[in-house]
Amino acid sequence: MVVSYPSPGTFLSSIYGDTTGRRGFDPYLADWSDSIKDDRGRVRLHKARCAFLQGSFDFDDIKHSYRMWVNCAEYGKINVIKDGVVIETIISKLPKRGNDIYRWKMKKRLGFLESLGDSYFFDPKDRNLHGAKTQMLFITLTWDPKTCDLETAWSGLKTDKIKGLLNTDPYNPLFSKRCKPENVGDHYQSHVKGCPCVSCRWNRWITAMRKRYGRIKVFRNFEAFGEKPQDGKVHADGYPHVHAVLLFEDHDFTVSYRDPHKHFRILRAEKDKISNLWDSHVDIEACYSVQGAMGYIKKYLFKTYGDSTVENVHRVDSDKAELTVSLLWLFRKQSFAVSGGWSDLITYGVIQTDFGDFDGLTFEWVGVFTAVELNIDPNTWCAVDPGGGS
Ligand SMILES: [Zn+2]
Ligand SMILES: [Zn+2]
Repeated sequence: MVVSYPSPGTFLSSIYGDTTGRRGFDPYLADWSDSIKDDRGRVRLHKARCAFLQGSFDFDDIKHSYRMWVNCAEYGKINVIKDGVVIETIISKLPKRGNDIYRWKMKKRLGFLESLGDSYFFDPKDRNLHGAKTQMLFITLTWDPKTCDLETAWSGLKTDKIKGLLNTDPYNPLFSKRCKPENVGDHYQSHVKGCPCVSCRWNRWITAMRKRYGRIKVFRNFEAFGEKPQDGKVHADGYPHVHAVLLFEDHDFTVSYRDPHKHFRILRAEKDKISNLWDSHVDIEACYSVQGAMGYIKKYLFKTYGDSTVENVHRVDSDKAELTVSLLWLFRKQSFAVSGGWSDLITYGVIQTDFGDFDGLTFEWVGVFTAVELNIDPNTWCAVDPGGGS
C-alpha cells in the first residue's frame, strides 16, 4: 500500500484516526505512555507535545502524563576536579514546575510579599461604605472558547522572523542599526500582530489599562478552566483565563457596594470602562488591603503547584489545579508574573559570592540522572559524594 506523504498541515489524527500519541497511537505499545518516554523511561515534554498537540485533547491523559513527569525526580550531577582528579561529586535535585524544590524556589521568589507591609484602603467591617476608595482591584478576565482553538489560546499564532531585518524582502534587506551585527540574520519566532493567545491579549489589555489609569503594579496569573460535564454545549474546558491583582498608583476607585457573596464592588460605570477593554466577561473585586489580596494569590499559587497542605482556597480545588499545571507544562507557559515595582519597596541584602574559594578547582557537568539511576531516595535535594563518583 502506498501512503501519500502527509503535508505539513496534516494532523496525525487524519492518518492514524482519532487518538494520537496517547492511547492507541501505536498499537504495538503495551503501555500507551511509553510513547512519551525516552529510552531511559523518563517522560519528556517534547514527546508529550508531539503526542498531545495533534487531534483532540484528553485531559485525563494529559494530567496523567504530567504526574509521571513531575514525580520523576531528576538530578544534575557535577564533578569537582582538582589537578585532574575528581575530588567530589555534587548531585542536586532539579526544579520541575510542581515539585518540592520548585515550590521552595517560588517561596523565595515570593518572599517580598511578606515585606510589603500592610496598608488598608478601607475598613471591610464598616457597614457604611460611604466615601470608601481603593487603589487595588482583583480582576478576572475570562475567555470565549469560540474565538480560537485550545492550543492557539495558550501558545498563540507564531511567525518566523529574522533578527535585525526591518522588512520582509530577502533581496533588498533593510537592516536595523539597533541590532548587534553578530545577531543579524538569526531566526526567531514571534507572535503575529493581533494574536489571540492569552499572553498577547493580556499584554494588549494591560497596555490599554496603563494608558488610561497611569502606573499600575501587577501580579498576574494564568489558569485553566476546569472540566464541565459533557452536555453537547461548548465549554471553555482547559482554556486559559487570567486572575490579576492590580495596584493603581495614579488612580483610585470608589467602592460602591458589597454583593450577596460578600465581594466589594466598584461603580458600574468604572467597571464597564475596564470590561470594554477585554472581549469576554470580566469580574472585578475591590480589595480592602494589600496583604489580604496578596495572601490569597500566594495560597493560590502553592495550591496550583501541587502543595497539598494548602486548603480552602477560594475558586480552586486540587483537580482544577492539576489541570492548570498540566496545561502550563504542556504549553510551556509561565503561570505567574510579577511586574517591576513591588519589590522597590524593599531593599534586598546583597549576597557576595567569594570566587576565591574556587581557586584551582574546575567543575564538570556530568549530566541529568533520575533518582533510580543514582540509586538515591527521590526526596533527597542534594548530596555530595566526597570520594568522587564515577
Ligand atoms: Zn500570542
Ligand atoms: Zn480562575
